[in-house]
Amino acid sequence: MRVTVDDRVVEVPAGATVLQAIRAAGAVVPTLCHDDRLSPSGSCRLCLARLTGRGVVAACVTPAADGQVVSTGDPDVTAMARQVLELTVERLPRRALDLPTELVDRCAELGVGPDGFAEAGRGLGADDSHPYVHLDRDLCIACGRCVRMCDDVQGAFALTLAGRGADTVVAPGAGSWAQSACVSCGGCVDTCPTGAITQAGLAATQAPVTAVNTTCGYCGVGCALTVHVSDGRVAEITPDRDGSVNRGHACVKGRFAYGFAASPDRLTTPLIRSGQRLEPATWDQALAVIADRLHGVVERHGPDAVAAISSARATNEENYLMQKLMRTVIGTNNVDNCSRICHAPSAVGLTAAFGLAGGTNPADDIELADCILLAGANPTEAHPVVGARILQQVLSGARLVVVDPRRTALAGYADVHLSGRPGSNVAVFNGLARIMLEEGWVDDVFLSERADGLEELREQLRWFTPERVEQVSAVPAGALRKAARLYGTASAPSIIYGLGVTEHAHGTDGVRTLANLAILRGAVGTAYGGGVNPLRGQNNVQGASDMGALPDLLPGYQRIDDPRARQRCEQVWGHRMPLRPGLRIPQMFDAAIDGRVRALWVFGENIAQTDPDSGHVRAALAACEFVICQEIFLTDTARLADVVLPGASFLEKDGTFVNFDRRFQRVRPALDPPGQARTDFDILRSVAAALGADLGCATPAATLAECARVAPLFAGISHTRLEREGHLHWPCRSTDGPGEARLYQQGFATPNGRAQLAARPWLPPGEQPDAAFPYVLITGRRLVHYNAGTMTRRTPNLALQPRESVDIHPDDAAALGLRDGDDVEISSRRGSITAAAHLTAEVSPGQVFLAFHFPQVAVNLLTSAEVDAVTSCPEYKVTAVRLCRT
Ligand code: SF4
Repeated sequence: MRVTVDDRVVEVPAGATVLQAIRAAGAVVPTLCHDDRLSPSGSCRLCLARLTGRGVVAACVTPAADGQVVSTGDPDVTAMARQVLELTVERLPRRALDLPTELVDRCAELGVGPDGFAEAGRGLGADDSHPYVHLDRDLCIACGRCVRMCDDVQGAFALTLAGRGADTVVAPGAGSWAQSACVSCGGCVDTCPTGAITQAGLAATQAPVTAVNTTCGYCGVGCALTVHVSDGRVAEITPDRDGSVNRGHACVKGRFAYGFAASPDRLTTPLIRSGQRLEPATWDQALAVIADRLHGVVERHGPDAVAAISSARATNEENYLMQKLMRTVIGTNNVDNCSRICHAPSAVGLTAAFGLAGGTNPADDIELADCILLAGANPTEAHPVVGARILQQVLSGARLVVVDPRRTALAGYADVHLSGRPGSNVAVFNGLARIMLEEGWVDDVFLSERADGLEELREQLRWFTPERVEQVSAVPAGALRKAARLYGTASAPSIIYGLGVTEHAHGTDGVRTLANLAILRGAVGTAYGGGVNPLRGQNNVQGASDMGALPDLLPGYQRIDDPRARQRCEQVWGHRMPLRPGLRIPQMFDAAIDGRVRALWVFGENIAQTDPDSGHVRAALAACEFVICQEIFLTDTARLADVVLPGASFLEKDGTFVNFDRRFQRVRPALDPPGQARTDFDILRSVAAALGADLGCATPAATLAECARVAPLFAGISHTRLEREGHLHWPCRSTDGPGEARLYQQGFATPNGRAQLAARPWLPPGEQPDAAFPYVLITGRRLVHYNAGTMTRRTPNLALQPRESVDIHPDDAAALGLRDGDDVEISSRRGSITAAAHLTAEVSPGQVFLAFHFPQVAVNLLTSAEVDAVTSCPEYKVTAVRLCRT
């Protein structure tokens, strides 16, 4: 459409508003209730413009039309806007002008001075109940931006406008903010134009504030954040409105949980064990001990007696250095990262099915899906920004199938919730596949032209009638049929999944049988989205694997025994590399206990709390001659180390992360590491130097450049390009190529270019409930805490969830004589812990749920050593337990 604005002709797309046309023309009208992230409401009536032949309109809610003529500078219209603003502020207290807000800007622009405000407020009061959100009702103009942010972006529906007429103000439901359904994303704080909703305790600072754009260091969504720094401390973190994944949104962790950075118990100096104690030491002393002890282990037992667990929290560049150090300086492939215990089945399963070890589609494709199959994931808690985007797509009309034993928040919005027994995924996915084939809800052309393995799969599926699947999984046959119809008949069906698929004894089979559905339906490698997309847990767990911190793969997923890859690496690194694949994390623990591994280097992982069967993990740490721990706090793992090296948090680092949809993004330092702490990049280079080696790679940028030389998958990615272009998806094979956000449109990356269906039987979980341990424990994450809780428990997030409790179905609680809040002992075949009972129908009868964020509720004392047969990923999602009231 062509619209004339103040004599300038602009083109705007169908559906644009007059306000968009005005902005496209570079003209300006004042706004207060408008936020580009939200649907327009037209409530403040400030954005007035004159339309020829129609009169004065509110531009934000008036559709643009072809041939329309708009004028914005009309003095009469400006006077009307000023009158509207005067009416808006006449009951606001004058102190509203003390804050740096949009309202203050509009007043300045339209000439509304202090005399236009009231001396004092309306006496409506404040709400200080929430640790992060402060509500000053007297400053509310009822524009509704906060309500729309909560509804249209977050989907929490926690806020409303309450009251009548001029006394209408925002209200968090009927009670206080702390009692409301608020999920603390901070969206209302960011959008409020008047200062009525602000970040609690945020002091107005006189010191200069610098703003640093970086990437969130919590989950794998990869939200772009702006860190505001004053006096060497974080003053505030806000979501970046241009963030390619989050688009101005964040969650309670990325938005607010930064207080850990200035925590007084940050590690600020190296520590060396002296008997039972860890004593402060200099860097020279710590590095000398490390060099001496590692050299000693290698001389006496060979390089394979050393192993390293690299960090999914650290940057790509640091992970690259860690694997390079282990391979070229120590001389072993014993390097792994925590993708082993979360999404290793995704890497292996997706590679086998499609060719590459990442999800198939970008996050934006969520908005193309008309049916989402969400399996084994609770993204509204574990990946909140993606969870919110999924919810908005469902609220916009997309159908939703949830496969999860728990009634998660999104399961509450599902058209079908397949709530099966933990460990029954493969049966459920095979059941869906069988129904789709029987009903013809498959893409025959796609199958014949682009896929292999149909006949073997068809044969395997003969067993999986809906009724047999119901027997195995407890998923009703009718619900299975309905789910198959929804996914099988959708135009653009998408699969999104999480650790509820992978963390099983047959997790790789789970990924393969889930991928089967997309292949059968022809919903992968298409132009319209769809695909099979894992939600990666930690901020850089994708990147740690991408960089080759894996025992059998070099950077860019090149096999360690691939002669061309070896030659490429050896030429660039100037070293011969060991050929034999190294140990996986669970194998490292076994090898430590039986004496094959003598020295273990743990980098940025609290394995004593997060890894399964933690009694076994602690025994492994105790069995090692020498343990190095590189950390930011004295975690349970660090306490067991011989040398502790103080590292840096994501707020103090320079480098890159890769998020869940294969997106490289920049990480920039906003703070200096505290005390003598160093960036992990510096630590790795220092350790190498102490061992007599030079890793090269003088800077993070030089490191990624070197990685691009050895890994064709990342050949086109560099810091320079990321600075210029914002983000890049891998594969990105050339410096002038854009990177592939949506994979496989030209063919799959398997050896023959075709997608591979997998015929897999259902096999029972490794551990089953019995008379002695009749309940199934599922473990996972909660919204406000993160992994071991090392960071979030050192922030006001602790006030939002001060302790962990065990979710128990009310029927089970009644049978056990438990009331809400009673202490209950939870025992598995490996140990016992105690937690308060939380009665909730989110879990099914016979199942309980616990997160692993609190060392006081050491849930991984209970989990088993059962692992996925293919990848050694632990079976976190099925542990047989008994419950006993204490
Ligand atoms: Fe950070 Fe994940 Fe929250 Fe985004 S959704 S702010 S990446 S924790």
